[in-house]
Amino acid sequence: MKKTVLITGASRGIGKAIALYLAPLGYDLALTYNTNVAAAEETRREVLVAGTTARLLQLDIRDRDACREKLSADMEAHGVYYGVICNAGIAADAPFPMIDDAMWDGVLQTNLNGFYNVLHPIVMPMISNRIAGRIITLSSVSGIAGNRGQVNYSAAKAGIIGATKALALELAKRKITVNCIAPGVIETDMTSDLPAAEEIKKMIPLRRFGTGREVAALAAYLLSEDAAYVTRQVISVNGGLF
Ligand code: NDP
Repeated sequence: MKKTVLITGASRGIGKAIALYLAPLGYDLALTYNTNVAAAEETRREVLVAGTTARLLQLDIRDRDACREKLSADMEAHGVYYGVICNAGIAADAPFPMIDDAMWDGVLQTNLNGFYNVLHPIVMPMISNRIAGRIITLSSVSGIAGNRGQVNYSAAKAGIIGATKALALELAKRKITVNCIAPGVIETDMTSDLPAAEEIKKMIPLRRFGTGREVAALAAYLLSEDAAYVTRQVISVNGGLF
């Protein structure tokens, strides 16, 4: 039977790149999006062309009740996930004095509460399933080092690292690995209008932004059976930035 992998935020950017990378590898995919149904349909179409089955799930990861209800129903209908990639996230950047309540709350609710809202309904069924599993979270160089203009985002992404490491300890004896990918600057909608992009590239030892595919390749490795002994790790894909 095919192993199912849930990818949150698969309509665009890194989540879409992960879906397309995994498509030829024989996983069944459950792809979530928030509002962008056209982009999600396009991801699904490309995944089907690339060789695997995929279903779409509308999921606002800020909405705890909806996550519990929709993810439970999806597992009831299709079985427990082998892998979960908590990728969906947002940024709302500004110098700290300019951050308002909505920017603080929105970034924390999406990126950090999203960890709880998505994984809490899933982890117990994964444990009860009694087979090895894989959980991958997305942090950022900002969560490791902090970044100016991103106090809210850095807080949420640092929180994800702590939560990932703690969950890895709890789930190790169940053969469920939990790891975190920390990208640097990756070419997606999130970074498409970065001010001073050329100046930022000069600070990156590899002198360019990364691609979604370069993040996806690591996610595919962490999902694989060969990665069974890798857990509780934060792995950077950042061109040597940090
Ligand atoms: P994009 O902005 O390109 O895509 C974001 C994805 O998340 C979309 O699929 C979007 O769905 C979904 N999403 C946004 N808000 C919600 C929500 N409330 N509920 C459910 N889904 C939501 O982002 P990236 O691909 O660039 O980023 C992916 C992850 O990688 C994020 O966690 C980000 O923080 C992290 N990251 C990105 C970096 C980069 O340089 N790009 C660097 C470091 C980390 P929809 O299309 O429906 O809006």
